[in-house]
Amino acid sequence: MKKTFYLTTPIFYPNAKLHLGHAYTMTLADALARSHRLREENVYFLAGSDENTQKMVDAAAKAGTEPIAFLDGIVQNFMKLYSSLNISYDQFIRTTDTRVHWPGAQALWEKIVAAGDLYKKEYRGLYCVGHEAFITEKELVDGKCLDHGTVPEELSEENYFFRLSKYAGALRQKIESDELRIVPQSRKNEILSFIDSGLEDVSFSRPRRANWPKGLGVPVPGDDSQIMYVWCDALANYITALGFGRDDALFQEFWPANVHVIGKDILRFHAAIWPAMLLSAELPLPESIFVHGFITSGGRKMSKTLGNIIDPEELIETYGAEAIRYFLLRHISPFEDGEITREGFKDAYTANLTNGLGNLVARVMKLAETHLPKPVERPKAEHFPQEYWDALNGYEINRAVDMVWSRIQRLDERITNEEPFTLVKKDAERGRALIGELVIELYWVGRLLNPFMPNTSATIKKAVLENKKPENLFPRL
Ligand SMILES: [Zn+2]
Repeated sequence: MKKTFYLTTPIFYPNAKLHLGHAYTMTLADALARSHRLREENVYFLAGSDENTQKMVDAAAKAGTEPIAFLDGIVQNFMKLYSSLNISYDQFIRTTDTRVHWPGAQALWEKIVAAGDLYKKEYRGLYCVGHEAFITEKELVDGKCLDHGTVPEELSEENYFFRLSKYAGALRQKIESDELRIVPQSRKNEILSFIDSGLEDVSFSRPRRANWPKGLGVPVPGDDSQIMYVWCDALANYITALGFGRDDALFQEFWPANVHVIGKDILRFHAAIWPAMLLSAELPLPESIFVHGFITSGGRKMSKTLGNIIDPEELIETYGAEAIRYFLLRHISPFEDGEITREGFKDAYTANLTNGLGNLVARVMKLAETHLPKPVERPKAEHFPQEYWDALNGYEINRAVDMVWSRIQRLDERITNEEPFTLVKKDAERGRALIGELVIELYWVGRLLNPFMPNTSATIKKAVLENKKPENLFPRL
């Protein structure tokens, strides 16, 4: 039987356009998914959107649209971006999907109830709509939320609470021992010290307010006055997508997840609340959580106010999706914050794609087309260096891409040193043999590029197998 590989991405809020940070998360995940398909594993890749939220209700109201219709439009845009970036997801889950998502979220809730881990109590606090959460006095400046500039509402309400505190010891042990592997180590340390600072029980529901739109919010089983709040709704998507609580064939096949790909801002939810919920429900924990940093521009986190937002659509239009994927995967460290500017992007494009890979493909295939009577024989066995897989298994995706560029450089150097175009004129047989070797080397470059730049990879393979120079891959701008 084929090895399975299940990876998930965060479900983003469809209250605004996706920015380059979202594109980054999806591209990292896609590279991993493709790298496991390259190993001939049975891969399941989940994407989705988190829709039952106050932010969303507000955004729809502002747009003067019914929430579900509003959501449909934005989700279409998500899918359009994913499609232009060539994100090869298998399912897009929406948490307003009453057929796919709700039964599983409710089944999970009931398991947590059965474990005695949900209780009702009064909650009092300052609620910030922008945060979609209660905030503390410390987060206020002049009575307004520091991040959103709005005055929070004072709320007192009955909520169900989840006994997160009960699982502190078990979580610590699972994470410390790497039974639940948090990558990179710095994020593992961060979550361990968060656990050590003391875990408090968390609110799992909200009263259903009179003006709350129909069709949004998973009803709490057995209590019509409440709807689920974030955790048991949003995080549950990772199992409801597989049919948990509904039809569990996929769940049996793919759970536990091999990796949840997330950004550093949602580490606590994924590495504390979510595994605690799974422990409570007696379900297996995911194998690993890969935590990436943020993309910055001009040294600052992208924001509307700073005017340094880079729209992925704009980059795709100018450079093409393959170039965006290349830049994000190679020039941004997957574990730290990474810088992108329009100038930096353009320089990398020209140096490494136009003059680098694009030029190499053109030179080698021009030689092949001119001097080889027929295509080279395709290598029989796949051969990928172990260090390439090691880098990918450690989520050091940039290191894996670097390895491909070292080969590109070596191939360039070989052409410079061995001058195949001169040799083939002096000694046709030896010249052809050398060109054949270069073409095979180019074939491997193409194969190794498969997870990162799938279209370029396919173009190179086709060019080699047809012995034909392809169209200019990365035109000079
Ligand atoms: Zn706020």
